[in-house]
Amino acid sequence: MDHFAIIGASYKTAAVERLAQMALPRDALTTSLPALAQSVGVREIAYIGTCNRIEVLLIGGDGTPVQAYRQRVAAALGGTESGPADGMFRAWEGEGALEHLLLVTAGLDSAQAGEREISDQVRAAWTAARAAGTAGPQLGFLFTEALRIAQEVHRDMSRLGPAASLADSAAARVLDHLQAGSGPVALIGVSPMTKRCARALSARGTPLIVVNRDLERARTLASTVAGVARSLDDFLAVPDPVAAIVIAVGGSKALLTRSWLERVAATADHPILVLDLGVPANVERSGAEVGGIELVQMDQFVRTAQSERVRRLLDLAPARLAIDRHLARLVDLFTLRGAGPLIGALSQHYAELAADDAQRLLARELKDLGEAERQAVLAWADTLGRRLAHLPIMGLRRLAADAGPPAVAAFVKGIESAAAEPARSRATFNGQSGRSPFMQKPTTSLYDRACRSLPGGVNSPVRAYRAVGGTPPFISRGEGSAIFDEEGRRYVDFVCSWGALILGHCHPEVERTMHEAIARGTTYGAPCLAEIELAEEVIASYPGLEQVRCVSSGTEATMSAIRLARGATGRDVIVKFSGCYHGHADHLLVAAGSGLATAGLPTSAGVPREFAALTRVLPLDDEQKVTELFAREGDRIAAVIIEPVPANNGLLLQRPAFLATLRSLTERHGALLIFDEVISGFRVARGGAAEYYGITPDLATFGKIIGGGLPAGAFAGPRRLMAHLAPDGPVYQAGTLSGNPLAMAAGVATLRLLTRLDAWAQLERLGASLERQIAPVLSRSSVPVALNRLGSLLWLSFQDGAVPRSAEAVEAAAAQRFSPVFHGLLDRGHYIAPSAYEVLFLSLAHTAADISHFVEAFGEATATTAR
Ligand code: PLP
Repeated sequence: MDHFAIIGASYKTAAVERLAQMALPRDALTTSLPALAQSVGVREIAYIGTCNRIEVLLIGGDGTPVQAYRQRVAAALGGTESGPADGMFRAWEGEGALEHLLLVTAGLDSAQAGEREISDQVRAAWTAARAAGTAGPQLGFLFTEALRIAQEVHRDMSRLGPAASLADSAAARVLDHLQAGSGPVALIGVSPMTKRCARALSARGTPLIVVNRDLERARTLASTVAGVARSLDDFLAVPDPVAAIVIAVGGSKALLTRSWLERVAATADHPILVLDLGVPANVERSGAEVGGIELVQMDQFVRTAQSERVRRLLDLAPARLAIDRHLARLVDLFTLRGAGPLIGALSQHYAELAADDAQRLLARELKDLGEAERQAVLAWADTLGRRLAHLPIMGLRRLAADAGPPAVAAFVKGIESAAAEPARSRATFNGQSGRSPFMQKPTTSLYDRACRSLPGGVNSPVRAYRAVGGTPPFISRGEGSAIFDEEGRRYVDFVCSWGALILGHCHPEVERTMHEAIARGTTYGAPCLAEIELAEEVIASYPGLEQVRCVSSGTEATMSAIRLARGATGRDVIVKFSGCYHGHADHLLVAAGSGLATAGLPTSAGVPREFAALTRVLPLDDEQKVTELFAREGDRIAAVIIEPVPANNGLLLQRPAFLATLRSLTERHGALLIFDEVISGFRVARGGAAEYYGITPDLATFGKIIGGGLPAGAFAGPRRLMAHLAPDGPVYQAGTLSGNPLAMAAGVATLRLLTRLDAWAQLERLGASLERQIAPVLSRSSVPVALNRLGSLLWLSFQDGAVPRSAEAVEAAAAQRFSPVFHGLLDRGHYIAPSAYEVLFLSLAHTAADISHFVEAFGEATATTAR
């Protein structure tokens, strides 16, 4: 069972210099965190490092006492020089650890009580742990809750006046000094701390000199605070006359030497305050002895802030009470989460016992019942099982809350052994004879319930598992690269909401942007700034675009782009390719991709023949057929629409020459080329397939990624075409929720993050690593299977021979080979699309461990599948 603990050292127990010696370098956390997890012996670990604290958050589970963790963390961080830093580290566990986490995150444990920057550092710690693959669901849950609670507490605290921070105290200290002296203040180093300090000083009209190694960065900051920029080398060589210096730069060597300070003091006619916020110190300690220099260093600064702490804490008493209130709820939630899977399994166990007994009854005593009565008996048994489970489950929830998850585990262990006998007698359940009755497959009851109120139990057909058999798990939560079903099972998610979640689930920055947007209202039905921002991001990213129209789905985007093409060219015929899916608009539902291929429907009922009659369908990868069609009907063709990276009937990667032919034929015949980039846009490159292949279409359609996980789509093109749209032109197109500020904010945050993180290089590395690791597994496989990949889009094609490039070359038999492998993967906690013809999506949240576990699970799943 999960056990949460924090091992921490802070300004309360150690000097800042000593903490700095033990700190883990920030840029190496991806490697140091897994090593730390291993040496401490825990499943999940995260590390918060600030200038005056180190906190190691860990989730253990094997009953190791927290003091042993304290020893191990101290030894791991103490280094060889100083030995285990025993007295320095404190340990918290269980409720105490949860309370400590909340206090730290809200800034109530900080030297500068109530500071808010610490939340960002906690968020950064979470991001780092996720990137290192050491933050799993439990830490993820705790980080999310702590950050959310801190945000609430900060909102309450803002009523008490502006937040305090070390940077503000530094500015106040400088302003005190300036009353006595004169002249400008030099800020050395550009960091969040100096930026905040610069803003506070500039607000009081203090002249500033911003000094930095990189002159450009100095200039950027200087321009926002009406200051002067200087390069560090110049400033050190020829110092300007200053009244005070605030310095905060990285590096382990003191930058301002005693002799330099002597030189500066000699030319000044007043005392100079030097505030050294560097850890380790940026100013030689002996600088304090120089006449005319008043040196204040970080440890002293922290001590002063600390002496203010008690007074501030009194002011912050309401915040502290709020934390206590949240804490009680968090403790309950965390313990219930720990016990959740067991409680879920228990409920299922009751339902299965009841179902088994009912089946037995139906097979013997009631074997003459008609079908309707049989169903009624089964439904009655199901209800009875769940009702009976209700009472013990209520009790277990209370037990978890009062005595913690281990008490539930102990209880369940007792009944597991009691249940072992009937479990053996039902040895063939699911064909998994040796498994505990608490570890069975997802319950079907939610699915049954869904089927009563939703056609097929779903809101989009492929989700119903008709192609692979069985019933789908119902997902209750996503986090990073994983999703969790209603019964607490975890799956690494390779569907990523069909490609929409390129950053993974709940990316903190997107989440924060959405929270901020929600607070301002979710839709106005009127223009808003976020729409322009999204349009500008799309235009800046993709070749040939000048204007964008936002809609609410990919279907709307392609449907509207077709209408625009018809309106702009005055022609009616549309050309599409078999296997390409462009959403479910009537005239595009012809030979369209996996959802339909899987269901064996060539097209959909309900589409009048006359609508489809204006759509020509050609095979992919065949220049000759397109050329012939244009020769016959070129002057009637409004547009050719294609997924330039067809990913809806397997991944049918096209030869660039084929796409180039489409470009030249459409140009020659006055038709438009539409790239449907709903999947490939912002995934295969910042500029989608157009950038990847170097071919610019007339119109492009987007969806999925551009909504950042919310419903949004867009179509875009040059002004000369977009001008045909209402209100400028006669082609009508509209939408109540189009461009709503919430989806736009999530989209903008996502697109900016992708660029900032250079996502495409990272995704390529992940994809290449999966390809490399799976290659030997594929060559050993008894089932015919090959991998086709473009960046983070992957398709496992279950057939022999070359990987197909057209829908016609995809074998129908692949579906039968795929199904058992699919279930093998699902059983092993890997969630891929329930169809042989869908692709796998990677996200930035996937870790190296996710990839290697997938490959391992794939190897096992194919090994147990006969050819
Ligand atoms: N175009 C392509 C290439 C798609 O893959 C999809 C959906 O998967 C669509 C259009 C339709 O998008 P939506 O499902 O958002 O309507």
